[in-house]
Amino acid sequence: MDCALFQDPAHRRLFRSALLRWYDGQKRDLPWRRTQDPYRIWVSEIMLQQTRVAAVLEHYREFLARFPTIQALATAELDSVLAAWSGLGYYRRARHLHAAAKKVVEELEGEIPQTTEGLRRLPGIGRYTAAAIASIAFGEASAVVDGNVERVLQRVVGGQISMPETWRLAEELVSRRRPGDFNQAMMELGATICTPEQPRCLVCPVHRWCATRGPIAQKRQTARETRDLFQALVVRGSKVKLVRRSRENSVMTGMWELPELDCPPEGTEPLAKVKHSIMNTDYRVRVWAVSEIRRGRWWPIEQLPDIPLTGLARKILRHTGHI
Ligand code: SF4
Repeated sequence: MDCALFQDPAHRRLFRSALLRWYDGQKRDLPWRRTQDPYRIWVSEIMLQQTRVAAVLEHYREFLARFPTIQALATAELDSVLAAWSGLGYYRRARHLHAAAKKVVEELEGEIPQTTEGLRRLPGIGRYTAAAIASIAFGEASAVVDGNVERVLQRVVGGQISMPETWRLAEELVSRRRPGDFNQAMMELGATICTPEQPRCLVCPVHRWCATRGPIAQKRQTARETRDLFQALVVRGSKVKLVRRSRENSVMTGMWELPELDCPPEGTEPLAKVKHSIMNTDYRVRVWAVSEIRRGRWWPIEQLPDIPLTGLARKILRHTGHI
C-alpha cells in the first residue's frame, strides 16, 4: 500500500490528533456518550447494529428505564425484553443480549468482561461489538470497523481494500491514549462528513491525508422488493386476537402479530393502510376489521404494551388507536 499515512508514523499521529480535535468540538451529544457504565455502552452498541441513531434514541432510554442494570436484564422474562425491543427490529439481538446478561450474572458474578477476548465469549458479541465495548468502556486499544469506518479508510487510501486489510489499517491507526474516542470519531466522520453519496471533503478534518477527496464507486445496492400484505384486526370487547410467530419463521420467532389473510375480503374497504419495511422488502399492508378468525389468542388491550409485538403489529395497533 503506497499511502503515506500508513508508511509514516508521524502522519498517523497528525491524523489522529486532527480527527480527535474535530470530534471533541463536533461530536453529537448522544446519551451513551455521557456514561462510562459498560452495561449502558453495551446496550447502545447492540441497538446501534443495523439501526439508525434516531430510532435507537427513541428506545434506549425506555429500555434502560425498564432494565437499569445487568442484573435487572438477566432476571427479566425474555418476553418482556422482546416487548421493550419492539420497534427496533432484528430481534435476535435482544435474545442474545438477554442470554449474555444471564451468563454475566450467573457465571461471572455480574462483572462484564473488560477485554475483546472476554467479551467475544458472550452470545451476540462479534469482533466489532467486542472492540467497541472494550475500547469505549474500558480503554482497550482495539480498533473497530463498521460500514462507516470501512468507507472512510477506503477513501483515505484511495481504493478498494480487503476486509482483513481494512482491520489491519484501523488497528495501526487507533489511538493508544483515547481508543474509545478515536473509534467513535471514525464512525462519526463516516456518518456525518464522509457520507456515501456526497462526502463533505471541504470541511473534513482528515482531508490532508485522503487520497480520494470525493465519492468512490459503492457496492451495488441490493434490489428492493415490494409486496402486498393483508391482515385482520379482530376485536371483541376489550380484547384483540393475535397470533404467535412460530419457529418456522426465521425472523421474529415467538413474537405476536395480527392474523394474516390469504386475500383481501371482497366488497369491503380496509380499515387501515400502512407501509412497513423489513430488510430489503417494502410491504404495502392493508388491514380489515374481521369479526372472527379461528386461530390465535385473545389478548386484553391493556396488556398490549407489555407483550412482544412485532414492529408492524405495534404500528397497526397504534394506527387504529388500540395502544
Ligand atoms: Fe471522506 Fe472527503 Fe474526508 Fe476523504 S476528504 S475522508 S473522501 S470526506
